[in-house]
Amino acid sequence: MSKGLTRRDTLRLSGLALGGLALGTGSRRAEAAVTCPDKSPCYPDTATPPTPTNQYKYFNDLDPITPWTYNAKQEVVGVKLEKNEMRITFMGTMIPAVRRAQQEMSIFVEVGWDDEKNAPVDQAIFDFGSGVSANYGAAGVGFGRMDKIFLNHLHGDHMSDLTHVYCFGPSGDRKSPLYVWGPGPSGVRNPDWPYNYFNDGTKAFCKALRNACRWHSESFSFQGTRYKEYDRPTRKSWGLPAEPVPVGDDDPTDGYALVPIELDWTRYGQKPTDNIAYWNRETGVKISHFPVIHTRQGSIGYKLEWNGLSMIYTSDTRPETHCIKQAINGRKGVDVFIHEMVVPPEVWGMKNSGLNQPGSGPAWEAMVEDMKRVQASSHTPQGAFGYLLSQIDPKPRLTVATHFPVADDTVKCALASVQQHVSTMVQGKAEGNMTWSFDLMVLRVFAGSPKPLILQNKAVVNDFGFSPVVHVTGEIADPKYAGPKDQLDTSTEIEAGPDTYCENGY
Ligand SMILES: [Zn+2]
Ligand SMILES: [Zn+2]
Repeated sequence: MSKGLTRRDTLRLSGLALGGLALGTGSRRAEAAVTCPDKSPCYPDTATPPTPTNQYKYFNDLDPITPWTYNAKQEVVGVKLEKNEMRITFMGTMIPAVRRAQQEMSIFVEVGWDDEKNAPVDQAIFDFGSGVSANYGAAGVGFGRMDKIFLNHLHGDHMSDLTHVYCFGPSGDRKSPLYVWGPGPSGVRNPDWPYNYFNDGTKAFCKALRNACRWHSESFSFQGTRYKEYDRPTRKSWGLPAEPVPVGDDDPTDGYALVPIELDWTRYGQKPTDNIAYWNRETGVKISHFPVIHTRQGSIGYKLEWNGLSMIYTSDTRPETHCIKQAINGRKGVDVFIHEMVVPPEVWGMKNSGLNQPGSGPAWEAMVEDMKRVQASSHTPQGAFGYLLSQIDPKPRLTVATHFPVADDTVKCALASVQQHVSTMVQGKAEGNMTWSFDLMVLRVFAGSPKPLILQNKAVVNDFGFSPVVHVTGEIADPKYAGPKDQLDTSTEIEAGPDTYCENGY
């Protein structure tokens, strides 16, 4: 440490130097130099620590909305989308840790309304982490509406429930293939012998998933799993980087056909359109991608644009410069900017230990060190999130921090960190320009001038509801196995009859 400088000064100087380096020349400066506290300003070390509330009151105060779905007569019930609306429903919002109130990551985006189809113009899912299937079901989203899934990276908290949606989709109303976008192989060399490169991309993942689910897919193929007529998308009609070809030997129109669309994660528009994942000329939805920095090479963020509206979902990442450029969006800005945020290591350790304030001792120190290592490889600290925002001009109309354990105290602490960099960031359902995501939060974004209106709502669902009503859109082909018992050895089965039980189930 240089003579005459305190530790804090050194930290401040090195932080500024790093920030300048990361962005290169011509970058915008943060509003003010950073002051880094030695101890948590949010959880002061006092004799009587405050009792954490373990609730997120902000969410309770949002206006309720009943998600739209089909009823038994195939009529639309609930609040259907407006023609100029982009609706973003958070189905899972949590960093990996088991929490009843927050499943792992998944975001459902629908746009517009097509009167002829009696459905939205288009829809896409970003990530599909563990536990989210229950939220999709509760929100009345049938499998037919869940056929396009964009993965940001292949961590379990972003793809675990794919098994469920792949296996049960054809039993529900997805009688057509499942399309899964995601990054190609990482290109990271194995540091151990034989120093090889793993085939760790989305195509290999889908191939393995398809094979792993063979017993399931065959066993349920006594049900119809495909339409008699299905208009297959092509590279051209969906604006894909390659022709959509299923892994394995499934009929390319079948519900069990799994179609990976692998993306070159190094692309971010160096050449025009070199980073397009999907550009459907019929619906007008365009989804592009860009690299982010998370644990291992290959993670990507996505930008969805439609009808003059835009949203970015970076998913998990260290603070980095691509998302700043994407959010500036050629000076147009974006409507909704969804970016991960992580609590400080000591808060993370404290929450995971059931403490009300940071602990002490060797076990505590070891845990905090481990949290620091995780964050250094993977995540965006609260203050870094604020710095990123300070570099984005114009500001997103609404910024959403996600992948974050929400509670009154964690959000209050995080907002204070962000405000250190951008004092104008405020949380509020009417006047707010920033919020923290929670499962079943619904954002309604309307195209209009001069600025789109953005409504923050919470979906009202029934915890004990059943599956969404099946909504098939054509005639279904005969199943692969004609009878429900074709795959069984029934020699020891007890049949219904006058001496056993009733065939009608009673
Ligand atoms: Zn991750
Ligand atoms: Zn994650």
